Amino acid sequence: MNLNLFGHAGQWLMVDCGITFQEPLDPTNTQPSPSEVFDVVAADPEFIVQHKEHLAGIVITHAHEDHVGAIPYLWQRFQVPIYTTAFTAEVLRRKLAQTKLADKVPIVVVNTGDTQRIGVFDVQWLAITHSIPEPHGLMIKTPAGSIFHTADWKIDTDPVVGKGFQSRPFKRMGEQNITAMVCDSTNALRPGHSISENACYPGLKSLIESAEGRVVVSCFSSNIARLLTLGRIAKETGRYMALMGRSLQNMVSIARVTGHWDESIPLAEQRHIGFLPRNEILAVATGSQGEPRAALQRLANDSFRDLNLDKGDRILFSSMIIPGNEEPIKNLVKALKARGFEVFQAHETELPIHASGHPCQDELRQLYSWVKPQIAIPVHGEAEHIAASAAIAKECGVPIQMAGLNGDLYVLAPEPELRRNMVRTGRIPLVQ
Ligand SMILES: [Zn+2]
Ligand SMILES: [Zn+2]
Repeated sequence: MNLNLFGHAGQWLMVDCGITFQEPLDPTNTQPSPSEVFDVVAADPEFIVQHKEHLAGIVITHAHEDHVGAIPYLWQRFQVPIYTTAFTAEVLRRKLAQTKLADKVPIVVVNTGDTQRIGVFDVQWLAITHSIPEPHGLMIKTPAGSIFHTADWKIDTDPVVGKGFQSRPFKRMGEQNITAMVCDSTNALRPGHSISENACYPGLKSLIESAEGRVVVSCFSSNIARLLTLGRIAKETGRYMALMGRSLQNMVSIARVTGHWDESIPLAEQRHIGFLPRNEILAVATGSQGEPRAALQRLANDSFRDLNLDKGDRILFSSMIIPGNEEPIKNLVKALKARGFEVFQAHETELPIHASGHPCQDELRQLYSWVKPQIAIPVHGEAEHIAASAAIAKECGVPIQMAGLNGDLYVLAPEPELRRNMVRTGRIPLVQ
């Protein structure tokens, strides 16, 4: 759950305001009892709430829950405008529509490449590649210096949605004396290069084409690229695609209104899919993380109203296991296999059926070498990921690495200094 604050000349800029799921409030509590685990958790915003008259605005980099999810719960405490691009704005509007804040939150829609003046900050939206439509990095400029905030990214030459990764803007940064680069460290422990989103196409196609019965694919609802790939395969293999679960239907509807959908995909309505011949069904289901109320769990229990599966039907997990979800996923797979379905999980399948949205070590090396910042600030990971990302920055010749923790103050100018524990931080529960 991300919440970054950038400060200059007495003002603050918030970048992202996200949530996490099924977590205890104490991150060191590795064996929480059920009453200590909350459905939805956010970073404690206490510090910035106390300084909200100095908060100039909130920028959201992309529509993943760990970046935007806390806004409907916390905006009332900030009451400043939100700046983001069209897809993320639409995701946010629909979340707000379910709260008392509908139409109350000023959302400024910006375009890729735009620069917005937000208080004392000049913020430019830079296209990058990730695993959701319209991911953006940010160039944040003040008279004190320039910060490149990567947000979540990977180097993907064929992301299926949006343009392929363009190296030129980042190479140009290498000549601009960038003060600091705040960088995604999620996969900093993984060697090599992430696979392209489009590399999932042959893997998924081969497993769908060779299936004799129904195929159910579970993936993250916001991965529109994956859904487009599945839609293309449905068309090519004579199947109809059905979206099982509200979050998938909502995301595809958002992709439609923001121009990211392909209308030639043969979609069938969820309530009609059960009437089709088995070999004409490609159902996409929510619940790849073993969520108890999601479509896949209900298919496993045979309690899904619109579809019943039979022995020999094929289930593909086009997703990764989010750390912490090992047990529920293991139980779900066991339940699916017990009913005689063929189950393929991305991590045990040789064919690529999932691509991570985050950079591996070669990609981190590449970006640090292009941008050549004075200071590297690794974020978006546990301490070990942050240390690994800092080591890569050092190896790439970045003079200063600041491997800090939540609550630390990263002084960037005039004299760089990492001040520990300047702000009390923690977690707050949003939903029990
Ligand atoms: Zn993220
Ligand atoms: Zn993300």
